Amino acid sequence: MGKVLLVTGGSRGIGAAIAAAAAENGWSVVVNYRAGKADAEQVVTNIRSAGGTATCVGGDVSRECDVRAIFAHCLERHGRIDGLVNNAGILHHAGKLETFDLARWDAVFAVNVRGAFLCSREAVRLMSTRHGGSGGSIVNLSSMAAVLGGAGEFIDYAASKGAIESMTVGLAREVGAEGIRINAIRPGLITTDIHGSSGDPARAERLATTVPMGRPGSPAEVSEAVVWLLSGAASYVTGAVLAVSGGR
Ligand code: NAP
Repeated sequence: MGKVLLVTGGSRGIGAAIAAAAAENGWSVVVNYRAGKADAEQVVTNIRSAGGTATCVGGDVSRECDVRAIFAHCLERHGRIDGLVNNAGILHHAGKLETFDLARWDAVFAVNVRGAFLCSREAVRLMSTRHGGSGGSIVNLSSMAAVLGGAGEFIDYAASKGAIESMTVGLAREVGAEGIRINAIRPGLITTDIHGSSGDPARAERLATTVPMGRPGSPAEVSEAVVWLLSGAASYVTGAVLAVSGGR
């Protein structure tokens, strides 16, 4: 049986591209979604049509019981888990921090940080050689916002990605001797639906002039880096944060 990868938020955007690229590289893929069941089923159909193996499973990564059910699906349908991509992420309407209410701040951290924590914890429990597992690899989706700060748009989102980067470094050190590598990708402006949540669906194209390479990136360009970090070709890479940002 091939190695099994869980991609959270794999129904569209960067997650869907990661699922497709991983399947092309021999991973059996579990595509998680929150609301977009039809989209997730289409990702699975595309993978199967190309000769790959995939299933999908609903669940909100910010809910502990849902995360347990997602991992139970991985074990019941695929028998094992070897990789995790913490991709599910949200942002809210662009604005200044002084206008944010607490519910907004908590909602962003619940999905972007608590979700990655809950999924990473389950993955480590199953993959760690200390617990009898076979080791594995985790890739977290950070953002250039972690470095740039999100001023005037979404400092909440930027701060959540800063937390993801700290967790990447800390967990990589914590389980480095247990067969698990943990790395993060820092995408720049990537053309996906997420920008619609900021109130400007064309945000990536609008800000293209701020990118040294002069254009937004595609989900496929991010997925190439993720698949490499997951693979044995990156066997001595852990605790790293790789920018895929066109130089932004
Ligand atoms: P997207 O197009 O909006 O897709 C988000 C995905 O996350 C969807 O599949 C969505 O599922 C899922 N999702 C949202 N909340 C969830 C939850 N609570 N539980 C499970 N799944 C959930 O976003 P994207 O642009 O591909 O972004 C993917 C990741 O890359 C995010 O972490 C984002 O912060 C990061 N990133 C993106 C960019 C960019 O420019 N696009 C830049 C830097 C970093 P449903 O379809 O079911 O709602």
